[in-house]
Amino acid sequence: MGENRISQSLLKERGLKNTKHRTTILEFLKDIRQPVTAEQIYCNLKEKNISINLSTVYRTLETLSDKELILRHSVAGESKALFEYNNRIHKHYLICIGCKKILSVENCPLHEYEKILEKNTDFLITGHKLDVYGYCPECQKKGLAGSLSKD
Ligand SMILES: [Zn+2]
Ligand SMILES: [Zn+2]
Repeated sequence: MGENRISQSLLKERGLKNTKHRTTILEFLKDIRQPVTAEQIYCNLKEKNISINLSTVYRTLETLSDKELILRHSVAGESKALFEYNNRIHKHYLICIGCKKILSVENCPLHEYEKILEKNTDFLITGHKLDVYGYCPECQKKGLAGSLSKD
């Protein structure tokens, strides 16, 4: 309940009307803490007996990402975008090239490296981006990475 109120004030803060769908989707994304597709959100809400249709999910995601309450990720070669709750924490992403799933990782090992780089290059570093590509455990089980590991 209290959690719900946080989402409601977030919506209000961004000048968005509090609708049940917006709050529900925002809460759902906040709870799972990982990027998911609109279809995954839709299926999950259905399982919880929440009546919503897929186009409403799309529309709601569009609105929430316009206001930067959620992040939209698109993977090269994949038409479906993934959506993630925007908790404004510096993160990196593991991207599976088999199923195009994205996993966010909050531990960043690069801050020390930035300091070393600054020292060595006299560059004033303001930030960095890093995506890591590979195969998730499920895709490895399916043998999608098989040809790679034999090399
Ligand atoms: Zn995968
Ligand atoms: Zn980092």
